[in-house]
Amino acid sequence: MIFKRTQRVRRTVTITKQIRDGILTYCKMNHPNEGILILRGKYKKGQVLVDGLVIPPFSHTGPTFAGFPHSFLPLDASYVGTVHSHPSGVAKPSVTDLHNFFGFVSIIVQSPYDDNDVFAYDRDGNLLEITISLD
Ligand SMILES: [Zn+2]
Repeated sequence: MIFKRTQRVRRTVTITKQIRDGILTYCKMNHPNEGILILRGKYKKGQVLVDGLVIPPFSHTGPTFAGFPHSFLPLDASYVGTVHSHPSGVAKPSVTDLHNFFGFVSIIVQSPYDDNDVFAYDRDGNLLEITISLD
């Protein structure tokens, strides 16, 4: 964990290496379709800590859209966001992605799903800093 003191609270995302690797594997498995997972973790003072992954119920995926009906999601305070893949190779959030924003962070993984292909965005589509923790 890295804590930084800044004047303004800036949202940052910390994911463990194990979770990052799990996300990359899941995205590769779903290629050429999009894969989507729910991020489980904690949100505190602008810091999102992801320490678990949940396969969403009733998810439906295709080459250009991955989603799930939010109304089926159990109300769980430990759900901090979602991660999905962009098989196209461009990790920019689409209008649909922003409309379907859920939680505090949306992580998008672009093909070919290497360590540096993971990007985090806030509700407005602004890029957030990701820290990979080793534990
Ligand atoms: Zn997308």
